[in-house]
Amino acid sequence: MTENKDSRKALETFKSRLREKLGEKGVIDDAEGKAPFEKEWRGRYEPKAACVVRPTTTLEVSEVLALANELSVPIIPQGGNTGLVAGGVPFEGGDEVILSLGRMNRIREIDAQNFTMTVEAGCVLQTLQDAAEEADRLFPLSLGAEGTCQIGGNLSTNAGGIHVIRYGNTRDLVLGLEVVLPDGRIWDGLRGLRKDNTGYDLKQLFVGGEGTLGVITAAVLKLFPRPAESVTAFIAVPSPSAALTLLGRMRAGTGDALKAFELIPRRALEFALTYVEGTKDPLEDPSDWYVLTEITAGRRGSGIQEVMEEILAAAFEEEVVSDATIAASEGQAGELWFIREAIVEAQIHAGGSIKHDVSVPVSSVPAFLEKAVALVEEMVPGIRPVPFGHMGDGNIHFNLTQPEGADRAAFLARWEEVNDAVHNLVHEMGGSISAEHGLGRMKAEENERFKSDVELEMMRGLKRLFDPKGIMNPGKVIRLD
Ligand code: FAD
Repeated sequence: MTENKDSRKALETFKSRLREKLGEKGVIDDAEGKAPFEKEWRGRYEPKAACVVRPTTTLEVSEVLALANELSVPIIPQGGNTGLVAGGVPFEGGDEVILSLGRMNRIREIDAQNFTMTVEAGCVLQTLQDAAEEADRLFPLSLGAEGTCQIGGNLSTNAGGIHVIRYGNTRDLVLGLEVVLPDGRIWDGLRGLRKDNTGYDLKQLFVGGEGTLGVITAAVLKLFPRPAESVTAFIAVPSPSAALTLLGRMRAGTGDALKAFELIPRRALEFALTYVEGTKDPLEDPSDWYVLTEITAGRRGSGIQEVMEEILAAAFEEEVVSDATIAASEGQAGELWFIREAIVEAQIHAGGSIKHDVSVPVSSVPAFLEKAVALVEEMVPGIRPVPFGHMGDGNIHFNLTQPEGADRAAFLARWEEVNDAVHNLVHEMGGSISAEHGLGRMKAEENERFKSDVELEMMRGLKRLFDPKGIMNPGKVIRLD
């Protein structure tokens, strides 16, 4: 009771002192204003914030954290709030403060000759892709939420997306960071260096740290030459095993010019055709599995279209591929990629869905799919698996739609039980229970089942070192007790 009273008093002091520093626009504490920041994508929790603070400069972030540290107020950093593991939203208690980075959205510098750009954490990903293009460069990070998610969130979750096979995760796209530590100190690590072996690579602790060690306020990102040509193909394959064979051939046959390699089951395509307007079946005859792939070349007249045709013709002869269409224009390529995006939305309309974001070694994807589908079909007869995603990275979104006509709530009540079984299998196969979405709140406890004591102790040690008062995103990623 006293503790509650004390923390309420601390919050009131926090809010009024911050209003003095950030002005009225910098602190939101009315229910309507807070609501969009309290939304949780999966709809599994009902987060409640004490208030939302919206600083505009690194110095202001530093002031917010110094005050929060002094008063022991928990801080939840938030970017675009598109995270899928409830990492960027508070718990239900209403005593945590959301620190929204959305107003810190300046591109500080584009250095085309260094192939870098220096940007603030609140920049929306798509804005950065566009800015790079204007400078005749490519920023290759690309994911379904790119119109909303922010680079600070991408860095903090080490986001993946569709181009990892060529350019790596967000972790591979960063050269330097500016970070505010939980006690308010600012670390200026904004170095645009390709080579820097001066001790521990501290920035990588904050990448994928999900806001538990500090707040990323700016970053130096890598840029790349823009491809001059690209070829997109939608390919019918008889099985995931055939898709794996095709992947190997395409990597070798194109000189590793693969930009994306996505696996799509027939059911996912059917959901998209049924529920999302504007989707078309690209091929005449149905196939159990498809691959959506893109290859690129750095110069015009490179002959990549012919290379794609040759690989597909040879694969067709050997029954690795049963049919394919190659986009004849950018517009057609866009239509094919629209199907991939539509799958995510279509699942919402198809009924309750139990999700997994898992990875196994690329070579184990077919075996994983076979075992995992058999496992869940035995647990929930009639369940409709929709496993799709980044096959080129061994990352499958193993999503499971409820049986037709089943009770949605009763099906979703089995979320944890089904997760447990699938995650056990993933672990047995040397995989990860979170390939690209992070741990957040949703998987923090589950992670403890699979990590060794020594690994968990290293994680706890880092958390205690950076954040001794435990104010940064408490209860997410690694639990202290
Ligand atoms: P938020 O959701 O706001 O926050 C995510 C985490 O980062 C939280 O723990 C938060 O506390 C922390 N955080 C945010 N900003 C900062 C900061 N500046 N400093 C410190 N911590 C911070 N993800 C993929 O990896 N690949 C995909 O293909 C993909 N596709 C998606 C498609 C859709 C339709 C949706 C809705 C989501 C998808 N996601 C995907 C998940 C999500 O978009 C990513 O996790 C994204 O990186 C989150 O960015 P955000 O700005 O929304 O972060």
